[in-house]
Amino acid sequence: MLEVAVITTPLLEDLHKNLLQKGTSLRGGSDIVTDIEIRTEPGPPAVCCRLLDPGGSGSKGDVIRAFRKVVASALTEVVLGKHTEQLIEQFLQSDYAFFSDEDRRVIVRQARRLVGMVGDAAGTCRRELIQRAFYDYLCRSGQLILDGFVRFRLKGYVGELRKAVERSVDCFLIEKEQKEFIRLLRYFVEVQHSRIDRIHVVFSPSGEGRLLNDEQKAVGEETFDLLLGSTFEREMTLDDALLSRLIALSPGQVILHTRDHNGGTLAETIRMVFFDRVKECAGCPVCNPRPLLKSEAKPRVRELHGTRNKGR
Ligand SMILES: [Zn+2]
Repeated sequence: MLEVAVITTPLLEDLHKNLLQKGTSLRGGSDIVTDIEIRTEPGPPAVCCRLLDPGGSGSKGDVIRAFRKVVASALTEVVLGKHTEQLIEQFLQSDYAFFSDEDRRVIVRQARRLVGMVGDAAGTCRRELIQRAFYDYLCRSGQLILDGFVRFRLKGYVGELRKAVERSVDCFLIEKEQKEFIRLLRYFVEVQHSRIDRIHVVFSPSGEGRLLNDEQKAVGEETFDLLLGSTFEREMTLDDALLSRLIALSPGQVILHTRDHNGGTLAETIRMVFFDRVKECAGCPVCNPRPLLKSEAKPRVRELHGTRNKGR
């Protein structure tokens, strides 16, 4: 009789369930007999799988190999599923304990996505490597401590997980800063007196913006406001300068002439900051400098109200 005992406390039930499913498929394919049970004593809790009749219809070696493959496959699935989630949680708990439960849930979801985002080939390769590591180990030993195995023999995978957690924490913090930044800019716009009824933000094909009034004359050049640079201690970019002027002028209406692109980050920020004051030009001589019919001479605008999430 060949026996494999997998010692694991938190994943006992999952592993047992998985092995039962795999064991059933194994029995369905041949007449080998397996016995899979949870053992809680003596010793630490373990899932035990026994190959009761290694004879079967095939050669003894083939049956034993098939049995080990099934156990290795079940272990791999548990590691890539529940165990991965637990590891991500542990990394967050030990390295970033200051996050709230809600924040942690968002970060865990993002980290899971990042880990799962490797292409099909890379994902298959990873699964095969892990399964192979389990199989090779089972050829040498009938007892496996799951947690220790993952930590010490699957270091590459654990490293990948740690990096995914770091990346999702970074993304989460950047997104949070951006939200805070937009919230403050909206506050500035709200408290500012509107100094002009309407401003057109005209984007070049390469995405640079210019501020024009209704007469297509540049406006806001004199408003050299270091609002954004000084408030957020960041290097002033051209986009920041334009945004800063736009906020200082606080127009009642902002018309975005983005041509055939969406205006990139600058336009997206303007949409979030000025929200219901923003209208999108749907085609005008500025965007589309070709001879137009009289009826086309006025900019046609599309309202954005209600199409964007005001809470952003
Ligand atoms: Zn236009």
